[in-house]
Amino acid sequence: MTATTTTPSRPVEVRGPQLLIDGRLTGSAEAIDVVDPSTGQVLTTVPAATPGQLDVAVAAARRAAPGWAGTPVAERQERVRAFAAVVRENVDELAALVTCEVGKPLFRARSEVSSGLAFAEAYTRMTLDDEVIHDGVGELVRLRRVPVGVAAAITAWNYPLMLALCKIGPALVAGNPVLVKPSPYTPVATLRLGELVRDVLPAGVFQVLAGGDGLGVAMTTHPGIDKVSFTGSGRAGRAILAATAPTVKRVTLEMGGNDAGIVLPDADPGAIAADLYAGGMSNCGQVCAGLKRLFVPASRAGEYADAIAAVAAGVVVGDGFTDGVDMGPVQNAPQLRRVQGLLADAVGRGAEVYFRGEAPDGPGYWHPVTLVRGAGDDVPLVAEEQFGPVLPLLTYDTVDEAVARANATTFGLGASVWSPDLDAAERVALRLDAGSVWVNQHPMLSPDTPFGGRKQSGLGSEGSLLGLHAYTDVSVLRIKRGAA
Ligand code: NAD
Repeated sequence: MTATTTTPSRPVEVRGPQLLIDGRLTGSAEAIDVVDPSTGQVLTTVPAATPGQLDVAVAAARRAAPGWAGTPVAERQERVRAFAAVVRENVDELAALVTCEVGKPLFRARSEVSSGLAFAEAYTRMTLDDEVIHDGVGELVRLRRVPVGVAAAITAWNYPLMLALCKIGPALVAGNPVLVKPSPYTPVATLRLGELVRDVLPAGVFQVLAGGDGLGVAMTTHPGIDKVSFTGSGRAGRAILAATAPTVKRVTLEMGGNDAGIVLPDADPGAIAADLYAGGMSNCGQVCAGLKRLFVPASRAGEYADAIAAVAAGVVVGDGFTDGVDMGPVQNAPQLRRVQGLLADAVGRGAEVYFRGEAPDGPGYWHPVTLVRGAGDDVPLVAEEQFGPVLPLLTYDTVDEAVARANATTFGLGASVWSPDLDAAERVALRLDAGSVWVNQHPMLSPDTPFGGRKQSGLGSEGSLLGLHAYTDVSVLRIKRGAA
């Protein structure tokens, strides 16, 4: 593995973008320092919305809600297309800001924005027509899908723009004003998005408020917010479920995962090693539905270790603006310490590091690609979501055993099975408890397909018509005929 240590100049000017509240760009008495993970230095300072500013934003959203809900769906979809067009025109700047604050390579930041746009725009091609349940002589019964009200979109730091766009699209198309709160670690690109699109939608329909976890708590308990769509950790997801209960808010929770991948005995290590590696290490291992527990047949463990290590040896870790870099730093200092701690603990319990790559020495939150074997299922590196560039290789003797161990977790986000025999792979796939089960790929998301967690990995789905319906309530209209 090669590591680069130079820090090239940024192709974007990182100013402190403003909050977007009620159609106006505004600062705040409070601020957040945003750190560049590749240097550990402050990148910029952005305003943090105060409780009073949240109240102003919620009031603006509630004022805008009836007008937006009453706007025909086709017109709302046209506005969302216009919103997407502005994002597309500014993709260079937005992707560069994502690279600055997340650390990921620029080409991956571009692909993050493109994927987010694909999700947001998919909702502009869906219909929200009433369904006629009964149309008889005596009665007409119609199911309507009405906007929920005011939506809050709370996002994590690993894909700030993609996560935001995946929530903004369906919230707006379904007729809800939306307040977006990015992670305090990565608020810059989302705030800039608000600046860029401020004139595309009526005041109050789209607002961006940066802030810490406390702002998230204030949103999830605010009586003026009707729906919370959250992407982040299990810890925060559970807190949100409890916090939203008193006001019976609608919630969509996209939480963490600890995905298993089971390689069947007939698979070819050389053919799948690159995909297994990417499944676990993409975005520096910071992917909710990344491959986090790799099960291979015990009799072939050495072949898999060699094949995956050979792929890892070609990976370049370094600054995201440098050509040829495949992987950036871990996004923040606490996450780096957590990954380092999980690895040290696993090694202390007898796990073997069979490959350790190179990474810049620092400053910055660098961690080398690290491949581990010999850790038991109860070791926290395996049992918990590691969310970093460390992939444990686990061995099994029978497929039944591998399936049982893969399912023996409270997580249920994704899982995969690998084999050239697609029928055999499908039979195993059907036994895995996860919201998405992939064969010969991991992960794979697309806008027309629901994505969500089973068990404690989440509640509800994003993507597809299910993702749009998640921003609506059902209201039934029953008209008695011939009575009056
Ligand atoms: P986090 O839960 O710490 O923070 C996510 C967001 O929630 C941030 O904006 C944060 O300020 C806010 N928040 C935190 N506590 C809150 C509370 N009590 N009430 C309201 N808001 C609160 O998560 P993170 O560290 O930013 O992200 C990493 C986690 O996100 C990982 O577990 C990862 O698996 C998960 N994730 C899941 C998906 C998915 O689609 N399932 C996608 C990406 C990331």
